[in-house]
Amino acid sequence: MRKVSVFGATGSIGQNTIDLIDRDPSAYDVVALTGGANIEQLAKDARRLNADIAVTAHEDRLDDLRDALAGTQVEVAAGQTALTEAAARPADWVMSAIVGAAGLPPGLEALKQGATLALANKETLVCAGPLVLETARAHSARLLPVDSEHSAIFQALVGEDIDAVERIIITASGGAFRDWPLSDLANATVEQASSHPNWNMGQRITIDSASMFNKALEVIETKEFFGVAPDQIEVIVHPESIVHSLVGFKDGAVMAHLGAPDMRHAIGYALHWPDRQTLPVERLNLAKLRQLNFHEPDEARYPALRLARNVMERGGLSGAVFNAAKERALDHFIARRIRFLEMAGVVEAVLEKFEAQNGLLDAPLNLDNVLQTDHLARKWADDSVMQKTG
Ligand code: NAD
Ligand code: MG
Repeated sequence: MRKVSVFGATGSIGQNTIDLIDRDPSAYDVVALTGGANIEQLAKDARRLNADIAVTAHEDRLDDLRDALAGTQVEVAAGQTALTEAAARPADWVMSAIVGAAGLPPGLEALKQGATLALANKETLVCAGPLVLETARAHSARLLPVDSEHSAIFQALVGEDIDAVERIIITASGGAFRDWPLSDLANATVEQASSHPNWNMGQRITIDSASMFNKALEVIETKEFFGVAPDQIEVIVHPESIVHSLVGFKDGAVMAHLGAPDMRHAIGYALHWPDRQTLPVERLNLAKLRQLNFHEPDEARYPALRLARNVMERGGLSGAVFNAAKERALDHFIARRIRFLEMAGVVEAVLEKFEAQNGLLDAPLNLDNVLQTDHLARKWADDSVMQKTG
């Protein structure tokens, strides 16, 4: 039996992961499941899968979790330290599906105990790519991508030499507003931004898809994961989300990964890697699809893409700043304190403020510095919003 843990088990990726585990329960020994405020879901899954431990991120919900799991063998814990401790419990395979930079400490801990880390949490690589790769190397732990684009690229690279790669082409659906005139975007509401045309995902990544901050994070994630140069990464808008990404080789050949927009493709690939197993996903009927569309992204519409390029060129701690400022800008948008198009301005202002302070972005890339930088970037993002809203 394989020992598995799922961090962020109650979320969209977490539930899809549990769906796959549930189809063959005798193959898995569930170590840790973690969640946030949805105690009922967490307890239900921990009970059914007989997890060793269930952890909620919210310390004040520990009693609720304990009550919900009364009469079972499942241990309970709460808070960020408990999450990281749960990641240190030996497991063969750990799903990292917490949303945001909060996924970084447990992800690093899982790598330190040598687990294979299935990385849905793209923020881990954006905030601390070199540290994460070095931790994996030092502990002989494996990192597998779960973001659909990165899973696609990873699969296109099987048996290939990375030096033969000329470019990586990341597809973007364009999100909720891809067909809106630019002039309407200023008034886009939280509700409108929270519905995705193709993918059913958590609210935060759905809004990030509409603003292309999600694609911006993914471009940085690509650079970190595959070690390619920023100018080797292209983004193309592909409204159907059937081609999940492509790799172009130096002989001009392009390998694409196609599939229905269902995250169980990428989760299942990471779960069964290096094998392939039958997955409960829709099969493509190309004749029925008839056509697939592609066009270049408009950088005026998507300033996040330009910011991502700056971050890749700048390096150091700028990824941690970018992500934290983005997370806070998103919080402020969801709280209706700023407008949709103002998010990019907040992020840019914070990046500029960091750049203006000598040395801040060039401190050594260790976990303490990443967390301190994350904290300061959030504060400066809040300050920037305060200045805007008065
Ligand atoms: P979600 O909001 O549906 O779920 C997030 C999970 O993280 C929940 O279990 C929640 O309780 C937990 N969580 C939230 N804040 C936390 C905190 N501060 N500390 C600990 N736990 C916390 O999110 P999702 O859509 O499943 O996305 C999860 C991650 O996977 C994100 O990094 C996202 O970018 C990435 N991802 C998601 C999809 C998708 O289809 N949903 C696709 C690709 C990548
Ligand atoms: Mg993706």
